[in-house]
Amino acid sequence: MIDTLFLLPRDGLRYLIATDAGTSGTIKFRRSDSDGLVLISYLRNSTAGFQLQLDPRSHPLNTGLPGGDGFWFRVPAELHGLWYEITRRGEHVGVSFDAFAARLPKQLMDPGALGYFALTYAPDADKPPYDEAPVPRLAAWRVTRKAVFGASVAVEPEPIGITQLEPYWPVTDLASVTVMVVGVGSIGGAAATALAGYGLGRLLLVDPDRLLWHNLIRHVLPRRYIGKFKVDALRDYLADRHGDTEIAAFRYDVVNDADLIRALLQETSIILCCTDGVAPRRASSHLARRAGKPAILACVLADGGIGEVIRLRPWPDHGCLLCRRQALTNEGTLDPEPALEAGYGTGTLHHPMTAVGSDLFLIGNLAAKITVSTALEAAGHFAHRLPSEHLTVGLQACRGWTGPFDLGYTGNVRWAPATPPRADCPTCGQP
Ligand SMILES: [Zn+2]
Repeated sequence: MIDTLFLLPRDGLRYLIATDAGTSGTIKFRRSDSDGLVLISYLRNSTAGFQLQLDPRSHPLNTGLPGGDGFWFRVPAELHGLWYEITRRGEHVGVSFDAFAARLPKQLMDPGALGYFALTYAPDADKPPYDEAPVPRLAAWRVTRKAVFGASVAVEPEPIGITQLEPYWPVTDLASVTVMVVGVGSIGGAAATALAGYGLGRLLLVDPDRLLWHNLIRHVLPRRYIGKFKVDALRDYLADRHGDTEIAAFRYDVVNDADLIRALLQETSIILCCTDGVAPRRASSHLARRAGKPAILACVLADGGIGEVIRLRPWPDHGCLLCRRQALTNEGTLDPEPALEAGYGTGTLHHPMTAVGSDLFLIGNLAAKITVSTALEAAGHFAHRLPSEHLTVGLQACRGWTGPFDLGYTGNVRWAPATPPRADCPTCGQP
């Protein structure tokens, strides 16, 4: 048998400790027997009755089996001292009905053959002499004629969010950063999730596509979002998980809607491009450069063999994506980018899937880390400086590549510096 846990939504605690709450009242429950869970779903104090719900509203217990009626009492801490003694000895150990009833502010109703639940609130449980032991202020009880048994209550805390990581994580500085994520497929979806987890202030999600069945094995979004626009679904999904990050969704195509993107870039700190086509990556590089904003481009090359994250900062001696690729070609390295035109595949005969989802997530997470580090370095957090600008990661050993793609082993990483702009570059040159 599993221990029963009672859940009290935070509103319930407020109604219980209110100065005009009185010393007793009634409660109702919803329960899930297979989980050993009981939700306190209604509480009546001396002023009124209140429905209580778990956050989010979709929590299954909110519509769980009705669990009957019970009572709550304000009690002396001594009763919770008893609760501590009996629960420590196991759930089969109880106190007698009379011993329990004697410590209540009001006569206890006969539990009959079935028994009922009670909730007790001991405001002085954290004061001497009870402050030495973990005596709780709230306790639950199963009241039967034979004995009264204790159970634990977990109270929903006030939301405190990511600020509780201060000062170990620079939450305040990241709260003012806006990142535009272009492409929220497998890599971009993972990157956006990671960025929200880092406590970024604002995310602008840009992608014109819908979530379809073939996406599912390599996407952070679950099945219930099938058919929705990826940006809308990801916004809702992340709002559920990371309430600290403000998220805006745009069903734009970075190539066809370049004017709209240009306008959005005014309010963007960094652009993170995670699309797998050549044209959107070039467009992102170009638009970011012209807007004077850093761009991070993440992709997986060589049929899933190599992960790559390039950081393009709009500095006079740092070239754009095309300049970087041209410099590699001049050094004798094959440009891996055109193969990206085939993307990571849809699983059809003509378009087989190459990279596995978790490898794409790995690169998405790295891209998010590099994006956040770029923002933190700009804010003066030099502990977050990156070694260089162009990261390649071995996902599988690939033959026939030259530097910086000749990684040799799974797990090898290499950082290469930026290369200067070409004299005739239409992106890096004066407009
Ligand atoms: Zn250039």
